[in-house]
Amino acid sequence: MKKTDICIVGAGPGGAATALKLAYANQSCVLLDKATFPRDKICGDALSGKVSTVLNRLDPEIMNRFRAQPQVGMWGFKFTSPNGKEMHFDFTPEDLAEEDYPSAPGYVATRLVFDNFLIEEVKRHDCIDLQEGVQISEYKKIPEGYLLKDKSGNFSIQTKVLIIANGAHSAFSRKHAGLEKDNRHHAGGLRVYYKNVANLEGQPAIELHYFKELVPGYLWIFPLPNNGANVGLGMRTDMISDRKFNMRKALEELVATHPRLKDRFKNAEITDTVKGYGLPLGSKKRILSGDHYMLVGDAGHLIDPLTGEGIGNAIYSGTIAADQAVDCLKAEKYDAKFMRAYDARIQRVLGTELKASYLMQRIMLYPRIVNFLTNRVENNKFVMDFLNKIYADSTTEWHKQLWRPGFWWRVVTGN
Ligand SMILES: Cc1cc2nc3c(=O)[nH]c(=O)nc-3n(C[C@H](O)[C@H](O)[C@H](O)COP(=O)(O)OP(=O)(O)OC[C@H]3O[C@@H](n4cnc5c(N)ncnc54)[C@H](O)[C@@H]3O)c2cc1C
Repeated sequence: MKKTDICIVGAGPGGAATALKLAYANQSCVLLDKATFPRDKICGDALSGKVSTVLNRLDPEIMNRFRAQPQVGMWGFKFTSPNGKEMHFDFTPEDLAEEDYPSAPGYVATRLVFDNFLIEEVKRHDCIDLQEGVQISEYKKIPEGYLLKDKSGNFSIQTKVLIIANGAHSAFSRKHAGLEKDNRHHAGGLRVYYKNVANLEGQPAIELHYFKELVPGYLWIFPLPNNGANVGLGMRTDMISDRKFNMRKALEELVATHPRLKDRFKNAEITDTVKGYGLPLGSKKRILSGDHYMLVGDAGHLIDPLTGEGIGNAIYSGTIAADQAVDCLKAEKYDAKFMRAYDARIQRVLGTELKASYLMQRIMLYPRIVNFLTNRVENNKFVMDFLNKIYADSTTEWHKQLWRPGFWWRVVTGN
């Protein structure tokens, strides 16, 4: 049986970022994943400004190396309201710290590429003991921490600090940490890869299409290298069941028949089957730590409830968990009370933003209000800049504005 101070279960963006942050702090760890990389993960594949910001903080060379991978830099986004009004937003890196944005603020890269890229970064550090093909199926609390066993029965490990980063279907998160799935704070998403979707030329931008029948969810078209595109849709799980909504049928019908999309998909080819997966949303505050453990990324239900963005929050929470793990080892304290510092920092860094996104998600429930606001903001530079920041860089303080009456006055009056 192996023994370690820190064991991370799951080597997706959350787990890999945790291990990298530890490595940059000269702290060794064991990183386990059931998969062997490269592996796919069902996703929209959009990497927001938060991903670049956090990885740049770790080491600017990481993003420099990432730019050599197959990816498309995103310089803006297009938003189509339920009444068909289209708005274009250019990300404005000149508003943002230049050292953080030597290149595009956001990217789209398949998870096959991005997650494997992070694993290659992990492999640069001897102090990370990466073990692929190890599926943890048993977690036993012992006085020293946790004892983990894998499904085959050939692998076991004892750890003082356990970091759970094994995604949306984490059994530990459900059974040991008590984070139950709540359909009002959970979404379902479908993804399909296409080639040759029309009108993707020009400055690459992510596209968010809002339709009356999908709100507060949306259909996305995200450009990929070689004329590819990630196309999908996401919707809150309670609404999928209340409306008995067939997501697959809706996706097929929208691209084949909707006047806004059908011509663009006329000559497009599907290059992979339609696949679905769950999104545990961060719209409900939950406790993410306990005696000897912390939950990171999707295992901690940290996906943005408005945009569905979870990679940035997985990476961010991973770096915070790494700091907390180092503090635990220094203080030799691992009890739930000491671990609460992790929750406090997550709340400080992501809490207000998640709350703001949930407010916006609920506003999006009303297509008429969305249409009204879209009409009001079209020529309103203040609001256009604000919306830019939501999608380009959510590490800024943009979200605080939503609670200021003056903000809504400027939205409605345009002054
Ligand atoms: C349809 C859809 C579209 C999305 N679009 C976007 C988007 O465009 N942009 C964005 O930012 N986010 C998006 N998200 C959310 C994003 O995919 C997740 O938030 C992100 O993958 C979370 O990273 P993670 O590291 O927490 O978990 P994951 O990426 O799920 O990684 C978990 C890892 O744990 C491993 N694992 C699981 N169980 C075990 C076990 N028992 N033992 C060992 N290893 C295990 C898995 O193999 C996996 O490698 C989307 C999600 C969906 C479903």
